[in-house]
Amino acid sequence: MVVIDPRDQVGGNSTHVGTIPSKALRQSVFNLINFRRDPMFTKAMEYKQVPLNRVLANARKVIRNQVSTHTRFYERNRIEVIQGWASFIDAHTLRVETDDNVFETITFNKAIVTVGSRPYRPEILDFNHPRVFDSDKILQMDYVVKKIIIYGAGVIGCEYASIFTGLGYKVDLINNQNQLLSYLDSEISDAIAHDFRQFGVLIRSNEEIDHLETHDDYVVLHLKSGKRIKSDAILWSNGRSGNTEGLNLEAIGLKANSRGQLKVDDTYCTEIENIYAAGDVIGWPSLASAAYDQGRCAAAFMVGDSDAEPVSSVPTGIYTIPEISCIGKTEQELTDEKVPYEVGQAFFKHLARAQIIGERSGVLKILFHRDTLEILGIHCYGNHASEIIHIGQAVMKCKSNNTLEYFVNTTFNYPTMAEAYRVAALNGLNRVFK
Ligand SMILES: Cc1cc2nc3c(=O)[nH]c(=O)nc-3n(C[C@H](O)[C@H](O)[C@H](O)COP(=O)(O)OP(=O)(O)OC[C@H]3O[C@@H](n4cnc5c(N)ncnc54)[C@H](O)[C@@H]3O)c2cc1C
Repeated sequence: MVVIDPRDQVGGNSTHVGTIPSKALRQSVFNLINFRRDPMFTKAMEYKQVPLNRVLANARKVIRNQVSTHTRFYERNRIEVIQGWASFIDAHTLRVETDDNVFETITFNKAIVTVGSRPYRPEILDFNHPRVFDSDKILQMDYVVKKIIIYGAGVIGCEYASIFTGLGYKVDLINNQNQLLSYLDSEISDAIAHDFRQFGVLIRSNEEIDHLETHDDYVVLHLKSGKRIKSDAILWSNGRSGNTEGLNLEAIGLKANSRGQLKVDDTYCTEIENIYAAGDVIGWPSLASAAYDQGRCAAAFMVGDSDAEPVSSVPTGIYTIPEISCIGKTEQELTDEKVPYEVGQAFFKHLARAQIIGERSGVLKILFHRDTLEILGIHCYGNHASEIIHIGQAVMKCKSNNTLEYFVNTTFNYPTMAEAYRVAALNGLNRVFK
């Protein structure tokens, strides 16, 4: 078995420019915010602004560790890694550019395309300009700014809005829609918008770029609404494209869609019977969490394991400060489907553990069927939400005992954030039985 990748280190974009650096960066900023809030440190610690690429020192350590762990996995499983760019010659032959103009040909029986995605770069922006960034380039930002524009209020834009405000930058967050992360439960979406405003993010909704004026040390964003926003830099975080254009897909009769993505069936097979695809290149949900499982399932289907289960239910994990995580249906979806549901809520400010760690905002919402008490959706906003969600996810996955009663009849460690489940369940049951 062979893996082909142009980097001299394994791990893909997730490890080198996506999930890992952004999460390690977030953790450093999160620590900084907590130090600043803690009365024991505020006098002793003088906070000096540092450029983003210096805050990334911790991330570089994590990346090194991830690379060496994955390298060991490949070695242990005797998987050869070839460094180079691959493209198809036909459905059983690849051409690999291993060095500038040095090519190797590889024949294969079956292949999985996992070329991932990259930030979408519209032609109207000059990404070579030192004040214009996308989510890959931002990791090299080597100067401090007072104010930054983030264009695009999706997951990446919102996560960076938290990071920048934590570093003390003013942020203008440009949203093309009228609500932040509109696919979320609307209370959670309102909560993050409220907290963003408290931290100094100016959310500008229903706006669209007209053009960007660039100067040596600032940019001016002209919006179609006529507004002009001056700022020290801009982070463009509006969409991603699949990395398919260099693959010479025509040679095998495959065509990517307008976003560079490939279509697959329930076994991750493309329209060509020996070629599979997984990860960002197949679109939904474009998360590293799912890409791992999709890759494993695609490999299982490829070798004829019919018990493999395609990825279907993926939790949303958004690492803003505070975090957001959800699984299952939203209130809006259940209302549209006319399901008689009820809500159980636990506000973090009432939990002993949250008070101890100084968590001010946060809520856990459990949506459940009024008659059967089956859990239908869990929505969490607050510190550790992306961990907390997995307790509910595990219960939802059970074939029996997947009801609200599980949380009432189970003793939780105290004090914990997980205790929110018991509090929310009791709150929900009170609504049903009172
Ligand atoms: C800023 C940011 C933050 C994110 N945070 C999270 C998060 O918190 N949680 C989460 O689950 N997801 C997160 N994601 C999404 C996550 O990074 C992606 O879903 C994940 O990387 C997809 O994995 P993949 O294997 O499909 O592709 P990638 O990780 O993109 O890897 C694709 C690899 O293929 C290589 N390649 C490309 N073309 C060729 C070719 N022609 N020949 C050979 N090799 C090629 C690339 O060099 C790359 O190494 C984040 C993404 C970004 C940008």
